Amino acid sequence: DDGATASAIRQLDDQTVERIAAGEVVERPASVVKELVENSLDADASRVSVAVEAGGTEGIRITDDGVGMSREAVETAVEKHTTSKISDIADLEAGVATLGFRGEALHAIGAVSRVTITTRPRGEDTGTELVLEGGEVTSVGPAGCPEGTTIEVADLFYNVPARRKYLKQASTEFAHVNTVVTSYALANPAVAVSLEHDGRETFATTGQGDLQETVMSVYGREVARSMIAVESDDSDLPEGPLDGVSGLVSHPETNRAGREYLSTYVNGRYVRANAVREAVVDAYGTQLAPDRYPFAVLFLDVDPGTVDVNVHPRKMEIRFADEAGMREQVVSAVEGALLREGLIRSGAPRG
Ligand code: ADP
Ligand code: MG
Repeated sequence: DDGATASAIRQLDDQTVERIAAGEVVERPASVVKELVENSLDADASRVSVAVEAGGTEGIRITDDGVGMSREAVETAVEKHTTSKISDIADLEAGVATLGFRGEALHAIGAVSRVTITTRPRGEDTGTELVLEGGEVTSVGPAGCPEGTTIEVADLFYNVPARRKYLKQASTEFAHVNTVVTSYALANPAVAVSLEHDGRETFATTGQGDLQETVMSVYGREVARSMIAVESDDSDLPEGPLDGVSGLVSHPETNRAGREYLSTYVNGRYVRANAVREAVVDAYGTQLAPDRYPFAVLFLDVDPGTVDVNVHPRKMEIRFADEAGMREQVVSAVEGALLREGLIRSGAPRG
C-alpha cells in the first residue's frame, strides 16, 4: 500500500486545458521556429528571416514577405483551431499541399508567451499590429509595416514555470533552432532563408540558387564542393515503396561525428527517419569510419498511400509500410552515386 487514496475526478478549467495542449505543440524554442517558418512558407514567402536571442529562450522573431493577413484574418488566426488551409476532413483526405493544416500553432504559441504580430496583406495600404499575452489579445490596431508578416515571441513559457525551467542552455536550444531552419532552407532553394543568433548571422541563402548553392550558403564551400548528386527514379531503383531518390550526399571524407547533417525529406516534408539515415550510411560501406556520418540532403518520393506521415507530424516521424524495401532503394540510389564517382567499389561489404 503506497498510501494513495482515490481523489475526486474533476473537469480541468479551460486555462489548464489550454496550457497542457499548448505544451504539446510548443516544446521548446525550436518548435516555435518550426511552426512559424512553416506558416511563412505556406504564405508563399520568397524571403523568411529568423532571428533568435539566447537560443530563442529570450526572443524569437520571424519576418516574411508572404501574403500577409488582414485585421480580420489575424484576429481569427490567433483563435483556437482556425486555419485557412483546409475546411473539412474531405480536404485532408484529398491531400494537403501546405505544411500546416491543424490551425493550432499560433494559438498555442500565444497561450504560453507574449506575441506581437505585425502584418500587411500584399497590395494593401495599411497593416495591423496584434498583441497576445498568455492567450489573450491585449491590443490590436492599425500599424505601418511592410507587406508580409513579422511575428515576435517574447517570454516563452513565462506562465508555465515548469517548462521554462526545463529549457536547456542557450547553445543547446540554438542547435535545435539551427537544425530546423537549416532543414527548411535546404528544402526550399527558391526561398531566401536567413538565421541570426544574438545579432550575428549564422547563414543566409540567396533564394535564387539550386540545391548545391543552398548547401554552400548553409554548410560552406568545402562541404558544397564535396557533394555528389543522387538521382534515381523508378527505372533505376529496386522494387520498393519509393518512386525516386534525389539530392546530394557528401564525399566520404567530408563527414562529421553527428547525424544532424543528414537531412531527409519525404514528398518534400522534412522527416527525422533513422531508417533512412542508416540506409544512407550503409551505402558508404567501409569508406566511413564507425560513428562518422556524411552530409546528405535527400528527397524521397513516395506514393502517399504507402507511408504514414501522420504518426506524429509535430515530431516529424514517419513510418514506411515496407521499410526493408525503402532501405534497399536508398542504399541503391546512394551507392549508385558513389560508384559513379569511383568512391566505393561495387560489391563492397557494408559496414
Ligand atoms: P495552420 O498553419 O495549421 O493553418 P496556424 O495556427 O499555424 O495554423 O496558423 C493559422 C492561420 O494563420 C493560417 O492558416 C494562416 O491563414 C494564418 N497565418 C499564420 N501565419 C501566417 C503568415 N506568416 N502569413 C500569412 N498568414 C499566416
Ligand atoms: Mg501553421
